[in-house]
Amino acid sequence: MKIKIDYDLCMGDGHCNEVCPEVFAYDDEKTEARVIVEEIPSSLEERVKQAIEECDTDAILVEE
Ligand code: SF4
Repeated sequence: MKIKIDYDLCMGDGHCNEVCPEVFAYDDEKTEARVIVEEIPSSLEERVKQAIEECDTDAILVEE
């Protein structure tokens, strides 16, 4: 599983970072989240799916 953030949609609330900090970093200065893992380990997939569901603007996109 690979994901990316659509920065046209991301509103920078940092919620994904709260749900799964192992995958999403949050830059306080730029007020934006970043994906810091190339390939999501299966052990984290459930929490990443939770972050995707809870992202209010649907900015987290699954690539494969
Ligand atoms: S939860 Fe969605 S809107 Fe919020 S920082 Fe993460 S990607 Fe952006």
